[in-house]
Amino acid sequence: MTATKKRYVIIGNGVAGTTAAEQLKKEDPHCEIHLISEEPYPLYNRVALPPFLKGAVDEGKVMMRTVEAHAEKGIQLHLETRVERIDAEGRAVYTADGREFPYDKLLVATGGSANPLRVPGAEGTRYIYQFQTLDDTKEIIGRVLESKVAVVVGGSFIAYELTEAFRVRGLETVWLIRGPRFLRRVLDEAGGLLVDTIAREHGVTVVYGQEVKEVKASGGALEAVVTTGGETIHADLVGLGLGLTLNTGILEGTGVQVNKGVITDATLRTSDPHIYAAGDVAEFYDAVTGNHHTMGTWNNAASQGKQAALNMLGKEEPYVTVPTYTSGLFNSKLAVMGATPEISDELEGISHLDMERRVYRRLFFLGSRLVGAVLIGDMSPRRTLLQLIREGQPVTDRKALLHA
Ligand SMILES: Cc1cc2nc3c(=O)[nH]c(=O)nc-3n(C[C@H](O)[C@H](O)[C@H](O)COP(=O)(O)OP(=O)(O)OC[C@H]3O[C@@H](n4cnc5c(N)ncnc54)[C@H](O)[C@@H]3O)c2cc1C
Repeated sequence: MTATKKRYVIIGNGVAGTTAAEQLKKEDPHCEIHLISEEPYPLYNRVALPPFLKGAVDEGKVMMRTVEAHAEKGIQLHLETRVERIDAEGRAVYTADGREFPYDKLLVATGGSANPLRVPGAEGTRYIYQFQTLDDTKEIIGRVLESKVAVVVGGSFIAYELTEAFRVRGLETVWLIRGPRFLRRVLDEAGGLLVDTIAREHGVTVVYGQEVKEVKASGGALEAVVTTGGETIHADLVGLGLGLTLNTGILEGTGVQVNKGVITDATLRTSDPHIYAAGDVAEFYDAVTGNHHTMGTWNNAASQGKQAALNMLGKEEPYVTVPTYTSGLFNSKLAVMGATPEISDELEGISHLDMERRVYRRLFFLGSRLVGAVLIGDMSPRRTLLQLIREGQPVTDRKALLHA
C-alpha cells in the first residue's frame, strides 16, 4: 500500500517560510512543497541589511539560499508570484498570474509591509525610503552615495539602523522621534537618555516629540520636510522606520481569525485546522506571558517556522521560546530578551543606569517571575537572565539581580 503524497503550500519565503519548507522536506522527503513569494530572491538575511547599507558587508553575505539549493532539496520555489486569494473550504491558494495550488496544509508566513509616510506631499515623491527588503536597501545605497543630509523618521529599531548607517556613510543626520525616546515602551527614561547620549556622541541630531507634517518636493524629488514644530529641514533623502502592517489581507473571507496578525493557538495553528501561521505575521498564544502577541525578530521567525512545520506534520507541540533581539548601537550593543511592555501592559519594570560606563539594565517581571530584560553596553548577564526567564522560577531579590 502506498501512502498518499502530502501537499504543503507556504506563502512567504522569509526565514519563517523557508525554515518550515526545509523542515517539512527533512521529516517527510516524499511530500510536495510549494514555497511562494512575491520577492525576486530566495531567502536572504534581513538582519544583514543594516551592515550592507553601512558598506560593512557585500550583497553575497546577505544571500542565504540559492534557487538551485531549493531545487536540489525538492522544494518548488515560485518567486515573483503574489498570492491573491485563499479558498479555505476548497483548500487551494490562487496567485495573481492565475495559478491554483491545492494543499493539505497551508502555512501563512507573509511577514509585514513597512508603513509609508502619510503626510501631504509624500506620496510619489522620490528619495523617501522604507527599509524592509534587499531592493529597498540597494535603492537607499544608490541615493546615499550622492547625498549629504538625511532625515530619519520613527522611534523603532529600523529607524535606529537607518540613523547609524547614514552616519557611518558620513551623512549629516537628523532623527525625528514622535515619542519621548527611542523604543519608548521597551526603555524607560534612563535607557532613553543613554541611547540619546550615544547617538549624539556619534554626531546625530535627535529631535523628540516631532513628526513630519509635510514634504516639500520639486519636480517630483524631495527637497525638505516640514516638522510639526514648524521647522523646515532640507534633506537629500528620508528614511522611514514607522513600523509594519502585517500582511494578513489574503485571509479575508476565509473565516480565519485575524487581529493585528493571524491569530494562532500555542501550536501555531489558526482557527482553520488546515492553516498555520509563523513569523512576524503570527499573533500566537505565548504560554510564558499567557496572552496572544506578535514578535518581530529573526530567531522567533526561524523557530516558529520549524515548529509550525513539525505541527503541520501532526506533532501538535506548543511553541515555547524566549525571543531575543540584539543590535549594535554605534560603538555599544543592545539586547532585548523575553517579554517587554510592548507585549503586555501587566509587566512591572525596574532599571539601573550607569552613565559613566554607558551601561543600562532593565528587568521585567510578571508577578514574581522574571519574564524579560533589556541590556545596553554590558552583555555579560545575558546568559543568566535568559536562563531565569526560561526557568520561570520566582525571583525573591529583584535589586540583587539588577546589580548582579
Ligand atoms: C532592516 C531590518 C533589520 C532587522 N534587524 C533585525 C535584527 O537585528 N534582529 C532581529 O531579530 N530581527 C531583525 N529584523 C526583523 C527580522 O528580520 C524579521 O523578524 C524576520 O525576517 C521575519 O521573517 P518572516 O519570515 O516572518 O517574514 P519576512 O521575512 O517579512 O518574509 C515574508 C515574505 O512573504 C512575502 N509575501 C507577503 N505577502 C505575500 C503574498 N500575498 N504572496 C506572496 N508572497 C508574499 C513577502 O514579500 C516576504 O518576502 C530586521 C528586519 C529588517 C527589515
